[in-house]
Amino acid sequence: MNKKIETTDYKIGSVLSEIIRPKIPIIFLLIVLCFAFFLLGFLTFFTAIFFIVIFTVVLLAMSSDDRKALEFYKNQEESKFKDISEGLNKLKTIIEAIKEPTILINENDVILIFNQSADKTFFSSIARDSVLNSENEIPTGLRIQTIIRSTLLLETLNLYKNSQKNSIEKIEIILPGEIDRSYEVDISRVPNFSKDEFNYLLMFRETTEVKKILTLRSEFIANASHELKTPISVIKGIAETLEKYGDEDKEASKDFLKKLIDQSNRAQLLIEDLLSLNQAEMRQHILPENEVNLMKVLDNVFDGLNELAKKNKIKLSKELEKKEYLIHGDENDIRIAFVNLIENAVKYNNTGQSVNIKIFENDFKIIFEVKDDGPGIHEDHISRLTERFYRVNSDIRNTGTGLGLSIVKNIVSRHKAQLEIESKLGVGSSFSIIFNKI
Ligand code: ADP
Repeated sequence: MNKKIETTDYKIGSVLSEIIRPKIPIIFLLIVLCFAFFLLGFLTFFTAIFFIVIFTVVLLAMSSDDRKALEFYKNQEESKFKDISEGLNKLKTIIEAIKEPTILINENDVILIFNQSADKTFFSSIARDSVLNSENEIPTGLRIQTIIRSTLLLETLNLYKNSQKNSIEKIEIILPGEIDRSYEVDISRVPNFSKDEFNYLLMFRETTEVKKILTLRSEFIANASHELKTPISVIKGIAETLEKYGDEDKEASKDFLKKLIDQSNRAQLLIEDLLSLNQAEMRQHILPENEVNLMKVLDNVFDGLNELAKKNKIKLSKELEKKEYLIHGDENDIRIAFVNLIENAVKYNNTGQSVNIKIFENDFKIIFEVKDDGPGIHEDHISRLTERFYRVNSDIRNTGTGLGLSIVKNIVSRHKAQLEIESKLGVGSSFSIIFNKI
């Protein structure tokens, strides 16, 4: 999880040259003096050589002090290096223990340490092969911007480095991807043990879900109030009319009362569908894990829907082997999806006579299919059917809310299944959910 940390290297060669360099003028002066004396006749050639040798011995004796100094310097560097490694190891243990993705970078944005959570969150989403070396380690010199591509993060880091602030800097970044993910990032300064510089600790807290819930909540309130406005103002209008003129015309009053009931039912339906959609959206990220037998779910809803079919003069039939069709799922969600698809096939079938439900399987999938011989849907509408509140306007009997298929889509995607819609005008429609087998 960490990579080699560069420390200040002590170089014996350079230290020795530091010791000898100041003595060069003395050595030079003595050699010149010895030869000057030799030339002037004060010394013989051998005496001059003798003095030079003596001087070298003295120099060596003097160097023993320097050697001690060098030894001391070396020991000091070694213990400093030990301190750095110990410090970094401690830091690494602390960073590793942090639950949130955490990364330590240096002054040049080079990654020094990162924990398992950061590895899972950021390093697995990048093309590892292009960044990691053969031992699956991050290569030396890998910079944070290669892993986290956020201009805001880089700009804030630069400002923070220049500001010399000691408090924690908090920012919120959004990382684009299949799903945009948002993170709160805490940036703080950590002393660099080896140099007179700082390292920087980046702690990430994912806020994607919280943000999603907040958005869904405000969308829900906006949708609910918008959609309920119509039935409620109609109800209010009718009630006021009845209050004023109800006694005068009994027949008209009956009509008004019927409208009142219709609109109340519509408002109730809207509230139920909105709540259902909200529930489905809120649970989107929770993978359902229970074992569900699709045959049992269908059996439970079939009789009730058959009553509706009879009322609409539609023959409702099912075609499946008597066996268990097992998937990992949420039984209640699947029931809601089945009811929505079957109810649609029955209620919009104003031209045909039958709706057939099938459950069948292949090696990997279990397919739930509802097929009707109703009016069919024009291809222009098909891709938009699962949008919230989308209704096919030309449909005379369409008294729904336009939320049914949106609810189904959410449930289907929560189950990592697929929704397939095929339809031909004048021929009929087929809606299938393709589940993964256990
Ligand atoms: P609602 O809740 O109003 O029924 P849905 O989201 O379930 O809305 O359906 C959206 C639109 O798709 C409906 O307005 C309807 O016109 C059309 N539709 C859905 N199922 C069928 C079907 N089996 N046959 C024809 N039209 C359908």
